[in-house]
Amino acid sequence: GDPLVEAVARIVAHADQTRRMQVRTNADTGEDALRARRFGAQGIGLCRTEHMFLGDRRQLVEDLIVAEDAAGQGEALAALLPRQRGDFEEILTAMDGLPVTIRLIDPPLHEFLPDITELSVSLALADTKGHRKKHERKLLDAVQRLHEQNPMLGLRGVRLGIVIPGLFEMQARAILEAAAACVRKGGDPHPEIMVPLVGSVRELDLIKGRIEEVAAEVQSELGQQIDFKIGTMIELPRAALTADEIARSAEFFSFGTNDLTQMTWGFSRDDVEASFFSTYIEQGVFGISPFETLDVEGVGQLVRTAVERGRGANPDIHLGVCGEHGGDPHSIHFFDEVGLDYVSCSPFRVPIARLEAARASLSED
Ligand code: PEP
Ligand code: MG
Repeated sequence: GDPLVEAVARIVAHADQTRRMQVRTNADTGEDALRARRFGAQGIGLCRTEHMFLGDRRQLVEDLIVAEDAAGQGEALAALLPRQRGDFEEILTAMDGLPVTIRLIDPPLHEFLPDITELSVSLALADTKGHRKKHERKLLDAVQRLHEQNPMLGLRGVRLGIVIPGLFEMQARAILEAAAACVRKGGDPHPEIMVPLVGSVRELDLIKGRIEEVAAEVQSELGQQIDFKIGTMIELPRAALTADEIARSAEFFSFGTNDLTQMTWGFSRDDVEASFFSTYIEQGVFGISPFETLDVEGVGQLVRTAVERGRGANPDIHLGVCGEHGGDPHSIHFFDEVGLDYVSCSPFRVPIARLEAARASLSED
């Protein structure tokens, strides 16, 4: 190999010996997971599942949306199950022996549903007939019904799981069946099921109860014991402030600092950078976008509060971060200082995160 690459690898490996925090990766495919593993990732801190509902699976999502009753929804979900099982088996296999945090679906609904205008135009042009046309009309009805003025504050994350019964259960089943299949092949999977956008422990408890029921079913069907964890993201200020209550129902927290920043400042993640951040930086309101480097004085206080309250209520709770800040050097020092167990970042930032986590450990004493 390249001697320079090898020298860098040796330096990072040396730094690993002083590092307290673990470094995981954000990865949604087996390929990304394997790449990150080569960069030294010690597991997956965030596997987003939204993309698994796109492409040729859109049709199944449409079927789910237009279903008129529980039976129709059940059919659409049953068709998604084997595909999801395959997705998870691939990722668990790539990260065999290491923890894999899989987040239940958290789609911004507006990016997910067919476009109202396109649907209306297609219907008006009457270029579809019969069954397809009826489907499109039902779809348009459903999309109009689900339309929101502020989708990022709307039917996302755990809210979707509560409103569409069976959706999270299907994913939980797919994760557990995938893990069981890995074990049967001699593997050592460590799935962690993560519930997104929780604001109240009641939301988590509701979903947790349903996942536990699914787990009991799967284990008795397969006659196989499956090890898994259930935890939640902390990405709403209310979750951080009530972290003690939430920690009693969670085995781990992962800080979603992208949403936590958005929700704390009230800045839209999707719009604000283009609109006025450069002026803010010019005028010295802040030196760098708080979406890049954690706003330690504000958002960081919520993280610190949640760590203290969470650990106070559940000393065994495992704590990490999977927002973009998990790969940002300055933020990594803060996460080390507040005592997180790991940071998770994109595969290419894993080596830098390993170095920064080591530097953070060195500057502790
Ligand atoms: C977050 O909000 O920080 C997070 C990791 O989730 P997402 O970016 O998918 O909203
Ligand atoms: Mg989020």
